[in-house]
Amino acid sequence: MTFRDFNFTPELLDGVLSMGFDKPTPIQQQSIPLVLEGKDLIACAQTGTGKTAAYVLPLIEKAMRHGTGHVQTLVLCPTRELAVQIDQQVEALGYFSGIGSIAVYGGGDGITYEQQKKAIREGIDIVIATPGRLISFLATGDVKFDQLKHLVLDEADRMLDMGFHDDIMRIVSYLPKERQTLLFSATMPPKIRTLAGRLLNNPEQINIAISKPAEGIVQQCYMVDDGHKLDLISQILRDGGFGSIIIFASTKEKVKKLDSAMRKAGFGCHAFHSDLEQREREEIMRSFKNRQINMIIGTDVLSRGIDVEGIDLVVNYDVPPDPEDYVHRIGRTARAERTGTAITFVNSDDLNRFRRIEELIGREVDRIPNPDGIPAMQASSKSPSRNHRPGSGNKGKGGSGPNHRNKRQSPSSGTGNASAKSS
Ligand code: AMP
Repeated sequence: MTFRDFNFTPELLDGVLSMGFDKPTPIQQQSIPLVLEGKDLIACAQTGTGKTAAYVLPLIEKAMRHGTGHVQTLVLCPTRELAVQIDQQVEALGYFSGIGSIAVYGGGDGITYEQQKKAIREGIDIVIATPGRLISFLATGDVKFDQLKHLVLDEADRMLDMGFHDDIMRIVSYLPKERQTLLFSATMPPKIRTLAGRLLNNPEQINIAISKPAEGIVQQCYMVDDGHKLDLISQILRDGGFGSIIIFASTKEKVKKLDSAMRKAGFGCHAFHSDLEQREREEIMRSFKNRQINMIIGTDVLSRGIDVEGIDLVVNYDVPPDPEDYVHRIGRTARAERTGTAITFVNSDDLNRFRRIEELIGREVDRIPNPDGIPAMQASSKSPSRNHRPGSGNKGKGGSGPNHRNKRQSPSSGTGNASAKSS
């Protein structure tokens, strides 16, 4: 399945492509058609599964089809950080669609409050809010949501844990009864079911089973710049006494380069990537299984589906692009009750991506100090937010911003802010 299968408008598809998403994640595959159909939805999914885009994409699509000049979608979430992250995803995915969004949270100054109020009054398409701040808007009668069409509760379990139950119910009392409601939660304790029973109407349910690496895998990481990775891997392999080893790199070019550098350094290894003929790949796998060769360097082509028992070491020479790929990659070791080691090299550009992996697997990976002679990683010169998203700027209906397909800018990073982005 691809994103084209959802029949999104070309502008939305452009947003998806510019984010570098090539195929929908399982939660997206399941939820997008249901949201487009107008169904209420209760989805059990954790951070890292692509849950945000699972509702943001169809809601942007609907906003484009039925733009009204009123706030159409309200997303409630527990924290300011999450509100900003969701807003960034709306901004990035809706970049070419002219969809306006704003993150509304407490703690700002009077100017921020006024900006937020103005944006909502002028009918920005999507409001992402923490409950406390929104209550103060609604209670003063400063803003109205009487034309609202969609309500999303994101991380509903965390909102209840943080004591937002009554605030949520109060906010809902200001919303039209005729609306589509989507509830996302990492866990489904009874209190979430009760909340869903009150707020949702005949909901569809989705459960995304989260993959966790096997218990037996020792997971470690090193913070290391690209220029020192070769030295580091050489030391690890020389000192470690590992039998069979798989090294993953993100592209076939990197695989080829690393393969030749490792050979020069005296290691016997084999590159495995999509440029090889099927016959050659099979030959390598066979020799690896038979222990005739002990080290393969490959792309993610390797990570799914190969079934070789007893791999001792998996090295992620760079952090995999998709958190699920991390689980697939390291799942090549410690199969069938055996233990194995998974080591990941993290450079400064990959820190955020690595944090998402840790969120997905629900634990921190052990940081191992670099051995003597391998300097500590340098801080990135780039912005702290490494979200792959198009540049921020004016956008919105009728705006003069880059809401034009020919005006696509190259993706850049940046942090979100609370100001309205719709003109
Ligand atoms: P979430 O679970 O919403 O917190 O998303 C986790 C990360 O996955 C975010 O950085 C998204 O940008 C990214 N992501 C979401 N959907 C996809 C996709 N279909 N392909 C690749 N990355 C995605």
